[in-house]
Amino acid sequence: MAYAYDDQNIFAKILRGEIPNKTVLETEHTLAFEDIRPQAPVHVLVIPKGPYVTYDHFCEAASDAEIVDFSRAVAAVCKMMGVTADIGEGCRFISNAGEHGVQEVPHYHLHVLGGRWMGRMLAKAE
Ligand code: AMP
Repeated sequence: MAYAYDDQNIFAKILRGEIPNKTVLETEHTLAFEDIRPQAPVHVLVIPKGPYVTYDHFCEAASDAEIVDFSRAVAAVCKMMGVTADIGEGCRFISNAGEHGVQEVPHYHLHVLGGRWMGRMLAKAE
């Protein structure tokens, strides 16, 4: 089944300006903003402006321009937040997808988490 995008999701509302956000960076195709429930001193969500549900959906369906813009925006956010692994102390990139990935908001987003030791990649499943 093809991905179906629900335009009533909370990030679609943020993109339409219907609910506020703390913007970190905005580019032509991408928005980065602070997570409302931060799980680390740095917790930024980077989202494409286009209607993509998951990372794989974005990779398959987005235009080259959107993918380049998104990737460059991620790099800029990391620099702005001081979490690059060369000058800073690194970070973790997470993108949850679907049921097994425990995705809460069905609009593709990349979590950029840093400012503290992030621990091992996966906790034991509950
Ligand atoms: P996920 O479980 O990967 O779908 O993560 C969704 C993330 O969106 C969570 O970390 C939430 O804290 C975050 N979130 C939900 N609503 C908002 C909002 N209005 N502004 C910023 N972040 C939000």
